[in-house]
Amino acid sequence: MKKLLSGVAFAALLTPLVAGAQKKCGHEYLMDKIYADPGMRATYEQHKKLAILKDEAAAKSTQSTAAYEIPVVVHIVLNQSQINSIGGTQGILKRIDSQLVVLNRDFQKMNGDSTRIPAVFKPLYGNANILFSLAHRKPNGTSTPGYEIITTSQSAFNGLGGTIGSQFACSNVKYTATGGAAAWNTAKYLNIWVCNFTDNQLLGIAFPKYLVTDFFLPAEEMGVVINYQAFGKRTIPTVTNDPYISGIDKGRTTTHEIGHFLGLEHIWGEQPNCSDDDGINDTPQQDDANGGCPGQNTVYANCTSSAGGEMWMNYMDYVDDGCMVMFSKGQVTRMHTTYPSTLTPDPSIFQWPTELLSVELENQFDVYPNPTNGKININFATAPGTLQRIEVTNVMGQKVYEQNATPNTAIYNIDISDKSKGIYFVQCQFSEGKVTRKIVVE
Ligand SMILES: [Zn+2]
Repeated sequence: MKKLLSGVAFAALLTPLVAGAQKKCGHEYLMDKIYADPGMRATYEQHKKLAILKDEAAAKSTQSTAAYEIPVVVHIVLNQSQINSIGGTQGILKRIDSQLVVLNRDFQKMNGDSTRIPAVFKPLYGNANILFSLAHRKPNGTSTPGYEIITTSQSAFNGLGGTIGSQFACSNVKYTATGGAAAWNTAKYLNIWVCNFTDNQLLGIAFPKYLVTDFFLPAEEMGVVINYQAFGKRTIPTVTNDPYISGIDKGRTTTHEIGHFLGLEHIWGEQPNCSDDDGINDTPQQDDANGGCPGQNTVYANCTSSAGGEMWMNYMDYVDDGCMVMFSKGQVTRMHTTYPSTLTPDPSIFQWPTELLSVELENQFDVYPNPTNGKININFATAPGTLQRIEVTNVMGQKVYEQNATPNTAIYNIDISDKSKGIYFVQCQFSEGKVTRKIVVE
């Protein structure tokens, strides 16, 4: 039985679709494609068996599961009118920041709405212990804020297919030749692409590692792609330029897709009936997706009529963002057994580069007067496009002043005349790296 969804599909003959109930995830398309081909299906079923065996071995092991920190790069790939529609660069930054907060709560068992978990499922509430942090180094070692904004000429990307690469899972957004953005080393970074989909019912799609190892698809497509109107969390109270898909405004599409990226299936399995399940030992067997936002104590009978019914409040079902509130412990085990073969930790990615860079950068600006009474001018020959931040530190390395770069600004006036006399360092952080100048305050 397909709760709410089928009812809405039927009602659609008479009335427009209810926005909150039309959500769709590209994982279904991938599975349809795999199940339609006997060879691919056999390969997938073998993959699933092995994943279950790994889970069982992990459950028996006494090894503690340390926290994982995953470096994230967000590729925003939108055209100018889409960028404007969500509040320009500021709107984009708000979405990225709020999305990271949501992920870190959901994957660390810290989401406040976990109070909605019914008593019968509370003992199964799992802590994935995964921390997501924006990358501070690009693959070539230079600095990055952890995102890039690509203004594309494309108004939408074919979410399920593509014309380049694997032609799976929104491949066009992953290549510059088709108006997208190339992945950063997918062995080390979690790449999140944010774009508009041609199919406006599609919320997101994941490309997990097994597509590379088992089906020989290109590794440079690993990651998740998210509908830009489902990315981040809506500001409350609602502000202008905050257009989200109704009900899909709490950042849970990205939580769900990263679940797929780390080896999870939809909670009902791959077939819309009770003939299969998700291969996770503690999620009740469920026939199909649930949608909308069921009342907290709603019980939908599951395939085995066990207590509590279906775990529709799970992140891997299709309910609205405000109603999906948990991963189970069994799902956490699956994510932990999938992680090591998916990403190779590289802690240096989280550190800002500190090395001095090219002479060209060194000569790009003057800091004067020096010595100074504390009122300092920083003059750039031309407004530096890659300047991100200016900081002043004392000889102890303590920050005494900081400001973010302002677009199209060539002159910065800094006042640290209230600080004690002595030696200070003015640091200009460019995307290419940091340049430091010593000044003396007298
Ligand atoms: Zn999904």
